[in-house]
Amino acid sequence: MDPGRELGVNSFEIGARDGAARAGVLHTAHGDVRTPAFVPLASHATVRGLQSSEVAALGFEMVLGNTFHLFIRPGHERIAKLGGLHEFMGWERPIITDSGGFQVFSMGHGGVAEEIKASGGSRGQGHGSVLEIAEEGVRFRSYLGGEEKFMGPETSMGIQQALGSDVVLAFDECTPFHAGRDYTAGATERTHRWLERCLRWREENAAGGLFYGIVQGGTWEDLRSASAQRVAGSSIDGIAVGGSLGQDKDQIREVVGWTLRELPETLPRHLLGIGDVDDIVAAVAQGIDTFDCATPTRLARHGTALVPDPGARWRLDLKKPSEQDSAEPIAADCPCPACTDHTRAYIHYLARAGELTAVRLLVLHNLTFMHALMETLRAGVGSGNLEARGEAILAGDSPYDICPD
Ligand SMILES: [Zn+2]
Repeated sequence: MDPGRELGVNSFEIGARDGAARAGVLHTAHGDVRTPAFVPLASHATVRGLQSSEVAALGFEMVLGNTFHLFIRPGHERIAKLGGLHEFMGWERPIITDSGGFQVFSMGHGGVAEEIKASGGSRGQGHGSVLEIAEEGVRFRSYLGGEEKFMGPETSMGIQQALGSDVVLAFDECTPFHAGRDYTAGATERTHRWLERCLRWREENAAGGLFYGIVQGGTWEDLRSASAQRVAGSSIDGIAVGGSLGQDKDQIREVVGWTLRELPETLPRHLLGIGDVDDIVAAVAQGIDTFDCATPTRLARHGTALVPDPGARWRLDLKKPSEQDSAEPIAADCPCPACTDHTRAYIHYLARAGELTAVRLLVLHNLTFMHALMETLRAGVGSGNLEARGEAILAGDSPYDICPD
């Protein structure tokens, strides 16, 4: 057994199981992450509107930094000179960094990622665009200033090393849902070759952090299975499930299932970009350990709170006229500042007026909701009643009621 796999086994401990679900602890150089866990996005070295100390106070043990955005601005070399990403953003706990593949390929496949639009387009600095996708890597035009940039597996590994990431993701080609089978098969093969180049770079540079491979393969069962087997057979510490998972929730579960059945029990599993309440309940039951998603913070930016209301997809639009006279809190049992100190009417007014306080309060609320959700699911795995807790959440029970905290 090679040293990388040995480290992988030791870096993740499963403390309890309930069916296929696991509750565990991921050990990193900056501390432990109890799983299952939701990982808030700190794409631009900040969780939107919050100081890092506030994110820690909410109970989160890991955040996700964005390799692509931090490469473009302020630059990984600058961050390295300033002590690395933990020091730069004042966050002492673990950081997972995505590889940049998703953002680079979002430009190339026409669906420019929303955060790119937010960073470039709205400020009139022009959109990024892909110039060439080749075996070596991807040449693209920066969304800031328009200069030409290059990112390949070695670039991505170098950036993540400079940032000082605790959980490094392999550079992958992220194919969109509309890509055909032949394109997806070719891109998945290239992702596997890039995985080998990432591993080689890490070995030659004695790179730190845990290293996760990314399973691709789109929505084809044989491609997903083959990709999962190939990635799981490499010297990795964990696995991320990426790419297009389908066009509806049933298909997402099916694709995740095809992937998980090929993976060894011992490795931690991260599901990229999935964060709806019902998707998380289903994926935890399937055996996913960690999640990241822009939804809680993105909804906050648009004046929407997460609430225990399955009929409204767990969303409450506080900008609705019906909220303007409400003296109620968003959720009476939520311990966050938005709910303990303020009314819906106040937050409605702030959101309609475009006040930053509205975004801050709703980020605090939405992340409190996500943390309570994960705590209750984790406790469910520990006590062997995950299914009942999941069903209660899906029926509209509040995660705060049954949360052990
Ligand atoms: Zn709240």
